[in-house]
Amino acid sequence: MHTQVAIIGAGPAGMLLSHLLNRAGVEHVVIERVSREYVLSRIRAGVLEWGTVETLRECGLGDRMDREGHVHETINIAWRGEEVLTVDTGEMVGKLMMGYGQTNIQEDLYNAADTAGTTIFFESSDVELHDIATESPSVTFICNGVGERIDCDFIAGCDGFHGVSRVSIPASVTTEYEKEYPFGWLGILSETPPLPHLLYANSSRGFALCSMRNQMLSRYYVQCPLTDSVDEWSDDRFWAELFDRLPHDMATQIQTGPSIEKSIAPLRSYVAEPMSYGRLYLAGDAAHIVPPTGAKGLNLAVSDVRYLSRAIVDHYAGEDDYLESYSAMALRRVWGAVRFSWWLTSLLHRFPDQTAFDQRAQEQELGYLSTSRAAQTALSEQYVGLPYE
Ligand SMILES: Cc1cc2nc3c(=O)[nH]c(=O)nc-3n(C[C@H](O)[C@H](O)[C@H](O)COP(=O)(O)OP(=O)(O)OC[C@H]3O[C@@H](n4cnc5c(N)ncnc54)[C@H](O)[C@@H]3O)c2cc1C
Repeated sequence: MHTQVAIIGAGPAGMLLSHLLNRAGVEHVVIERVSREYVLSRIRAGVLEWGTVETLRECGLGDRMDREGHVHETINIAWRGEEVLTVDTGEMVGKLMMGYGQTNIQEDLYNAADTAGTTIFFESSDVELHDIATESPSVTFICNGVGERIDCDFIAGCDGFHGVSRVSIPASVTTEYEKEYPFGWLGILSETPPLPHLLYANSSRGFALCSMRNQMLSRYYVQCPLTDSVDEWSDDRFWAELFDRLPHDMATQIQTGPSIEKSIAPLRSYVAEPMSYGRLYLAGDAAHIVPPTGAKGLNLAVSDVRYLSRAIVDHYAGEDDYLESYSAMALRRVWGAVRFSWWLTSLLHRFPDQTAFDQRAQEQELGYLSTSRAAQTALSEQYVGLPYE
């Protein structure tokens, strides 16, 4: 089979790229390791930058998001026990955020792909990339017990952190930047009404976050040791720990219920440079990972794909400038989000080796944030998302 673009991975990056290429009439196929049902069962991101919201609207994927999503007007940070610092991003930088689950975006993308008749090879194994340094790369894999080979002009590596694309680039041309954090996030999903706004907490017992997916689906997290396992955390223990980390009047507003999902995620920052090699272009988690504190992972996947789809469409119109500058342009935005996510993680968590000096410096920074319009503007500008180039 020959196509113009072979997309590896049918997560948000791969399927948004597919959708944008469909709209521009660029032929492609998508190759995915697991089943459609499995992809749709993964509970992940839920806070969208305003640029992501506008990107989804512009390409015809905004209707359900606008109906079911929840606009966040403020970021709230509880600290020093009962105090809550509220940053009004609309007032500071004229932009808001949208709460809309990654699972919903994934459903919207699969529905759009069904309408367009996109070929997606689900449950593909032994995916291998060949001749990526040449103008005639190919991908081989096994699907339904049959060996397949796709010859193409480009390969888009949208297969997440554990995918095959990034490791197909010779190690000698890749530079990796990595930081691991000495704690994880224990998250639960519960079918209960959420708080009306996002609430972060820096407490003496560690970080906590109250977030939402929709009006009857809440997402809560607490910082936990990496050595903890989900079995050690009954729902009762989780709710008690969450409440101990929040101001009393916030905790009393939360309606508890049984968790319908519970997981522990490690926190990591990672960037691989460059994001392209020959005819292979990486997008999303395949090239970079951020700790979820800044809610940037999904939003970076969207901005990478925005740049990459424009570059590929331009190539078929005879113009290669965006293709040649893809990696450098994407990395500028990636590093903005990587730095911001690292900073917010450092500001809001208790580190196991945190000294009294570190603690006072953290409190000072939160105090500065609560009194300085300049500091709140800088936080808002980065939280709602830096502009696209
Ligand atoms: C627990 C958790 C919570 C998160 N919370 C947030 C949040 O609040 N806000 C935020 O912005 N981000 C968050 N993220 C990050 C966000 O979910 C990711 O950044 C986003 O999924 C990236 O999309 P992607 O398409 O690049 O990668 P993925 O979603 O990982 O998709 C990659 C796809 O490629 C497939 N694949 C892998 N290997 C192969 C292969 N060899 N061949 C073919 N296919 C392959 C995978 O099965 C997968 O479907 C969270 C992530 C996790 C794990």
